[in-house]
Amino acid sequence: MTPRLGGGPPDCDSSLYTLREHVSLKPYHTFGLAAKARFFCEINSESALLALLKSPVFIKYPHVFLGEGSNTLFTRDFPGIVVRLCIKGIRRLAEDDESIYLKVSAGENWHDFVIYTLKSHCYGLENLSLIPGSVGASPVQNIGAYGVEAKDFIAQVDAIDIVSGEKRVFENKECHFSYRDSCFKGVLKGRYVITSVSFRLAKQAKLKLDYADLKESLKKTGLNNPAPLDVSDVICSLRQAKLPDPDEIGNAGSFFKNPVVSEAHYFSLKKQFSGIKSFKLASQEYKIPAGWLIECCGFKGESIGSVGIYEKQALVLINDAEASGEDVHRAIAKITERVNITFGILLEVEPILL
Ligand SMILES: Cc1cc2nc3c(=O)[nH]c(=O)nc-3n(C[C@H](O)[C@H](O)[C@H](O)COP(=O)(O)OP(=O)(O)OC[C@H]3O[C@@H](n4cnc5c(N)ncnc54)[C@H](O)[C@@H]3O)c2cc1C
Repeated sequence: MTPRLGGGPPDCDSSLYTLREHVSLKPYHTFGLAAKARFFCEINSESALLALLKSPVFIKYPHVFLGEGSNTLFTRDFPGIVVRLCIKGIRRLAEDDESIYLKVSAGENWHDFVIYTLKSHCYGLENLSLIPGSVGASPVQNIGAYGVEAKDFIAQVDAIDIVSGEKRVFENKECHFSYRDSCFKGVLKGRYVITSVSFRLAKQAKLKLDYADLKESLKKTGLNNPAPLDVSDVICSLRQAKLPDPDEIGNAGSFFKNPVVSEAHYFSLKKQFSGIKSFKLASQEYKIPAGWLIECCGFKGESIGSVGIYEKQALVLINDAEASGEDVHRAIAKITERVNITFGILLEVEPILL
């Protein structure tokens, strides 16, 4: 513990947080690479966060905010301060005839929160069950699964300006949500730290069951009229069957974004690859599953150095053993090059690589 490093102006109370030095980041990101942080700090309250933002060490060094590290890879030692948001709390703000409003602190675990909502008869998030990570990160990439996105239920995001320390409330529209994206990942990247997220949830469930896998699995269970918790259970089973558990195998979920190509590009590919999988967008463009492209290039189940391409889903890269950051970069280069040569499509990495 080095509280001296956090010292500073009188309103910057360094006793509110503990700053550690040369900390292994392996346990703090689900891919589990062996990188170290020059400084590491867990934040349990808004006042501790405000004090840290004003501390000389925060001002002097580069910094990154972290939830549960399920969408972040530390591919090298981080030369500054890694700040892990651990602020907890769920508060019922208000309700009307149709909705219940809940304000949830950034450090709450996403799946625990989803289960809490379902048990409290607040509906909407059932399809987002078992997505790893924290509530605070959910608006950053507008998490989504099985035809539902967090943006459909986020009412407001409470954040603090990292430079001025001022609080700001972002209404849903101001977050500029889109597919796996928001202003927090785009124009305002690195400017705000999210302290809590307010959700508007439904009192009456309106289940979204159109997604093919989900429909089929529900059919198999024989439940004609599933309750939201049944849907959550089925989704958990589907995810467990398809995706590696980060507690057992290091991974960061989908490693590449599904690329979108023009109509002309799609039809030229279809001539060469009759089995091409696609999803037509309203813009007349086509979204192609990145996992299918990678699989077609023969990578599924293979390893590149110590980075594996998951045998059940080629979109997921795994830490075979003691993968290094260089192994990850090598695997990305090899996969993106082969996909580009074969399909003329440049894949984009989804998680944040540091
Ligand atoms: C097995 C697996 C399956 C997955 N499945 C899905 C899926 O179905 N759908 C999906 O959308 N994602 C999925 N993901 C990705 C991941 O779960 C989400 O991106 C999740 O929101 C990340 O949360 P986190 O707390 O771990 O974020 P982190 O990795 O800690 O952070 C992600 C980014 O958000 C920033 N950030 C985090 N907290 C804050 C904060 N409080 N304020 C400001 N910035 C912050 C970080 O700086 C970083 O840039 C999956 C990941 C894994 C490992």
